[in-house]
Amino acid sequence: MSSTKRGKIMIALIDVNNFYVSCERVFNPKLWNKPVVVLSNNDGCVIARSNEAKKCGIAMGVPFFKIKDIAQKNDVLSYTANFPLYGDLSNRMMRMLQRTCEKVEIYSIDEAFLDLTLVEDDTSFCQSIHEKVLTGLSLPTSIGIGKTKTLAKIANHIAKQAQKTVFKLDDQNADFYLSTFPVDNIWGVGKNLSHTLGFHGIRTALDLKNLDPRFMRKISSVIGERIVRELNGIMCLELDDIDDAKKSVQVSRSFKEPLADKEEIYQALSRHVERLCEKLRTHNLRMKGIGIYIRSSPYKKPFIKHGQYFTLMTANNHPSYVLKNVIRPWLDDIIKDSSVLYKKVGVTAFDLTSNADIENKLFPSEVPTIQTSILKTIDALNKRFGKQTLYFCSSGIFKKTATDFSQSSQYTTDWKGLLHVS
Ligand SMILES: [Mg+2]
Repeated sequence: MSSTKRGKIMIALIDVNNFYVSCERVFNPKLWNKPVVVLSNNDGCVIARSNEAKKCGIAMGVPFFKIKDIAQKNDVLSYTANFPLYGDLSNRMMRMLQRTCEKVEIYSIDEAFLDLTLVEDDTSFCQSIHEKVLTGLSLPTSIGIGKTKTLAKIANHIAKQAQKTVFKLDDQNADFYLSTFPVDNIWGVGKNLSHTLGFHGIRTALDLKNLDPRFMRKISSVIGERIVRELNGIMCLELDDIDDAKKSVQVSRSFKEPLADKEEIYQALSRHVERLCEKLRTHNLRMKGIGIYIRSSPYKKPFIKHGQYFTLMTANNHPSYVLKNVIRPWLDDIIKDSSVLYKKVGVTAFDLTSNADIENKLFPSEVPTIQTSILKTIDALNKRFGKQTLYFCSSGIFKKTATDFSQSSQYTTDWKGLLHVS
């Protein structure tokens, strides 16, 4: 979304309220108006809370065992995350937005920026979008409107806090609301930066708005300078400036039971690498760098963590290459002692490049190999017959692990998950 000759730019940020919980509620009306939490797949940490659960004092990120008493006392309903359902509902919402708005930038699974520049009455337009998503998908949203993405983000925050569906920051009300908005809640202002700003006496969004952008650049970066300009209504932030996550792809998961055996850990890493490469292939991407980590439980002492970053010889999305050249030697090197119990492993792809970039080169660093066509076939089969129909031997045999918490059906993506009416 760059500047336009057509007139003033106006941006909206639409965000689903308590997205994962709201998805669970779509097919299960019993959850309406009840305290509900969604837990991460293996380690059972809270990753989403309904407003009712928030009111019970349940914090984000805590492991369920730590809040068991509160949950029992308040009849909190808990579900293990059902990502196929959330992903599908997200896609449906984004398609709905794309049909309604001229320009949509998907920002996360439940957030998108909308360009309202051509819209006459932006507030009622956003109100109608809210209703469309609510009636069409049963997902409640909040929408913030502002002259820039930063202001739209802040407006969205205010809408949520005030439990309004649509809130607009305009020239009349902006300074008042910015003066009550803490600087560390601003999009792109991390912990370190808000510390530095606090040191200079800048505590609210209004303080930051009134700061000399050049001074901001001196104490932070060019991004910091742009945030100041954005608060002043000058659109200068492209999504990529803030969203570093887009430049990387990550797969990580906790084990249900801690693992000490090197081969079992290797199998877990192999599954992660397979999944990571599959994600890259879906988006026609390859990685030039990969980061790996493995750690024990942070709730037990001593806490042990190993991590390393590797640069690959060729931009890659082949699991076998990564497993043989990176994972195996690294694991052999760090796991000497089998008494350490590891709880979580993760892999992250960095320095991503598109397949097209590589194919357009005069001397591609990698010629298409038989591996590439095998992977294409595996992807096609898994797409047609379901995830993990075919997978690498090195990933071990998949066991469907039973969790302590129930998981809702995949109502929209699996025939077996279809809702039964009796
Ligand atoms: Mg949300």
